[in-house]
Amino acid sequence: MDLEDVDPVAREGNVAKLFDETASQHGDAQAMEHHGERRTHAELRDRTAAFAGGLHDLGLEPDDRMLLFLPNCPEYLIASLGAFRAGVVISPVNPQYKRREVAYQLEDTDAKAIVTHPWLREVVDEGLEDADREAEVITIESEGMERNPEDVFFEDVSGEATLVERADDDVALLPYTSGTTGKPKGVQLTHRNTRAQLNWTLAASNVDVESEDVRSLIWLPLYHITGFTHTALQPLVGGGSLYFRSALEWDAQECMQLVEEEEITHFVGVTTMYADMVQAEDFGEYDMTSLESASEGGAKLSTAVQEQFEETAGVDISEGYGLTETHGATHTQLGSSFGLKHGTIGQPLRMTDCKIVDDSGDEVPPGEKGELVVRGPQVMSGYHEMPEATEQAFTEHGYFRTGDIARRDENNYYEIVDRKKHMINTAGYNVYPSELENLLLEHEAVADVAVVGIPDERRNEVPKAFVVASADVESGTDVTAEEIKQFSLDRVAEYKHPREIEFIDELPRTTSGKIQKYKLEDDES
Ligand code: AMP
Repeated sequence: MDLEDVDPVAREGNVAKLFDETASQHGDAQAMEHHGERRTHAELRDRTAAFAGGLHDLGLEPDDRMLLFLPNCPEYLIASLGAFRAGVVISPVNPQYKRREVAYQLEDTDAKAIVTHPWLREVVDEGLEDADREAEVITIESEGMERNPEDVFFEDVSGEATLVERADDDVALLPYTSGTTGKPKGVQLTHRNTRAQLNWTLAASNVDVESEDVRSLIWLPLYHITGFTHTALQPLVGGGSLYFRSALEWDAQECMQLVEEEEITHFVGVTTMYADMVQAEDFGEYDMTSLESASEGGAKLSTAVQEQFEETAGVDISEGYGLTETHGATHTQLGSSFGLKHGTIGQPLRMTDCKIVDDSGDEVPPGEKGELVVRGPQVMSGYHEMPEATEQAFTEHGYFRTGDIARRDENNYYEIVDRKKHMINTAGYNVYPSELENLLLEHEAVADVAVVGIPDERRNEVPKAFVVASADVESGTDVTAEEIKQFSLDRVAEYKHPREIEFIDELPRTTSGKIQKYKLEDDES
């Protein structure tokens, strides 16, 4: 099927145009609320245009990269839409990141600018120092903070706020994801990918999101593709309004209270968030029936939690599935006429072509397990400056290999049953063992190390490190284990650190030297 015959709007270049259309149709409607401060779609468009002009004044050109290192806040969207407008590529950075993680992304993207918050400014400076580079640092104003002279968010910005023409294959977003090699990779998401997600997922959605009445509560982190695409861009482009809360300050009770008070219609959370809600003492006392869409993605949803939530809150949870490489969703529960199927990720979205294949690449029949591979207009164009990794990521017929093991039933509902890739999914955050292993090997007490995921009641999985201590280090003492944990906490985001350390004499290996992780995992399950 030829994409261009089906949806001409997908060919129209710069995704920022869609938001201009929204502002002209819904200019007076509320676009966002943050701690009582509200802005309309027209105000958002003006600020976005000012930001694009600011980037232009700073000398940024189309295709230049800009890191976005911010917690969830309205400026996140102003900067993003402004960058789309100016043709500048956004590379989001997890605000939990430490200096080495920021330095890597600065270097790998060759970023010309970094947008940040005063709280994170020190890490930015450290990252720039480690990477030994210069970039324009744009610091946003926040409540109670001094206005920063480099601020380009506000009215006094001069410059042409033009909308730069973009080709469909021009990159709009460059989020980072790790992989089995341990080296984080930039995922090239094009303007066409973004338009596809905004147009087609909307068309498939089980809720009328093209409406000023949509109120989306953002609690997932915006640096992550699910939060950015599904809790922010999608509701916004339809004329709805965003409510921001910090992903680092998750509070189940506050969430339920906000849903009731602001009559939130749209919420996406990971399973841990729903579990926290159903376990709250006063769960059931909040009226959450305003929720037309409560979704889950990023990790497997616990059916027990789902049933409890649905029974007491009277609201269905719709589980979906996707990856950074697919700009968010490839599968979702496609609306009530198809029925919601617990324990599954629903069905493929419109225009999303997928297969389940065995090790030789042949499609397996319904009911049988295999790797899920997907093809569609939302799938990335490749990894940034990594041709080999890009080649390996796709089959010869252009399907993206998800690394997830799935099966489907006769009605085309898909279920994720396992993972082929080495990845630990901890409360929706992904940890790649190889990244942690490479880091821990830098510690003087560590001669060899293997990281695996171990079951955890609240976070589903957490990283555990099996460590072979260096010959000259007295191993097995709590002090050393604590030191190793601290070593990790000081250098990478908190959710990545090994919650448990176990010293062993030797790692189990095959004769060819490959670590047999399944042996370590089996001991844990
Ligand atoms: P990310 O690139 O961070 O979005 O992570 C994508 C990965 O999250 C997928 O490859 C899956 O392993 C996992 N994932 C996402 N959604 C689900 C789901 N509904 N069930 C199970 N795993 C999921």
